[in-house]
Amino acid sequence: MSNFTILVVDDTLTNIELLSSILEDVPYDVRVATSGEAALRSLEVKLPDLILLDIMMPGLDGFQTCEQIKSNPRTRNIPVIFLSAKDRIEDKIKAFEVGGIDYIVKPFHAKEVLVRVHTHLSIYQLQYELQEKIRLIDDNIITSETTLEGIITKVSQALCDISGYTKEEFIGQSHQILRHPDMPHELYEELWSTIQSGQTWEGEIKNLAKNKEHYWVKATISPKRDANGVITGYRSFRQVITDHKRVQELSITDGLTHLYNRRYFNEVLPKEIKRSLRQEEILSFLMLDVDHFKRYNDTYGHQAGDAVLEQIGRALQTQFKRREDFVFRLGGEEFGAIYTTLNAHDSQKIAQELCARIEALKIPHQANDVSAFVTASIGVVILDGTDPNASNADEAKLYKQADQALYRAKENGRNQVSFQ
Ligand code: GH3
Ligand code: MG
Ligand code: MG
Repeated sequence: MSNFTILVVDDTLTNIELLSSILEDVPYDVRVATSGEAALRSLEVKLPDLILLDIMMPGLDGFQTCEQIKSNPRTRNIPVIFLSAKDRIEDKIKAFEVGGIDYIVKPFHAKEVLVRVHTHLSIYQLQYELQEKIRLIDDNIITSETTLEGIITKVSQALCDISGYTKEEFIGQSHQILRHPDMPHELYEELWSTIQSGQTWEGEIKNLAKNKEHYWVKATISPKRDANGVITGYRSFRQVITDHKRVQELSITDGLTHLYNRRYFNEVLPKEIKRSLRQEEILSFLMLDVDHFKRYNDTYGHQAGDAVLEQIGRALQTQFKRREDFVFRLGGEEFGAIYTTLNAHDSQKIAQELCARIEALKIPHQANDVSAFVTASIGVVILDGTDPNASNADEAKLYKQADQALYRAKENGRNQVSFQ
């Protein structure tokens, strides 16, 4: 590391010589200026780490020089120590008022000058490092603070970078501006009740950027407390997990139809069964199989067959577009849906609608012996979570029942729904 540079400003040559020899012994690099004006010119060329400034000088005196140094953002942070024969208390106060950091009375003792210079250089150095670290954190850690009502009071640069908003745009806004419509209402309810009760909430959130794109974060949100332990607001740390989420999404998505795949179905079905029993809801599992699809491929080719599967996938998504619904491609020309309804009748109506919707796509299928168009057969099993007898339901049983219902729909002439 190179030496610290000290700028010595004094109009008396003997003072300059004396100070220089003391400081150069350490060693510091010493630069000199014999007037306030010369000192300011010197600062334009190169910034020292500390300035020793005489007060009584012709032209700009030390106070005026210091004021100029402190009013320039480039030089503002350089510590200034006054060195003066003036011993009056008013002069000392004035020295601090214009931005000086210390005051040494002439005639000075070499050792005193050295310890004061050394102390201020250390503080300056520490301050600089602290600022660097704060900047590093600000640039890299996504943080924000809000009031009790969720109004943003502080944001880090990293949050601005990822969201596309400026600090000015954030402050005073509700944290809801980052809310993505895909995120369920219940998640935010849970988040709020957790932090309002004084606990820390942790979870994965999809956020909306200013340009309407999204990013995923793992968020840790905790209450901020005052000295008496009273919650005064909330503080959040967020870590970007978008890439991780993309991989996860790919691993549960069917490549052709972009529906969820069988792997995800195996995960979701048992969870949904448990949830419907717990919340006493009516849960349906629907299994759909395209009729005479082998013949379709044989007539129109495999590629045309793929296009049909994509269309059927879209028909399923149209039918089941509520956030709580799940649609899957279970494999080949077989699809699945898990959905909740208010009663069994609604579930049946939905399944019938879907069956009609597929035929209404009017995809010509001349070898289909039940229609001129592509059709599908559907088996549905309904789990009544309000029924105490349903409590021993499991995914294997439900799957088998839907499969049997589907088989009956085929047996009974295809292009129809059968219920278990
Ligand atoms: P059924 O009405 O009894 O269901 O008759 P099916 O011909 O549809 O049933 P089967 O199980 O005999 O044949 C299913 C066909 O689906 C066989 C296979 O070529 C076709 N298939 C499965 N996966 C794909 C796929 O990804 N793309 C295409 N184009 N065809 C597929
Ligand atoms: Mg099949
Ligand atoms: Mg089939």
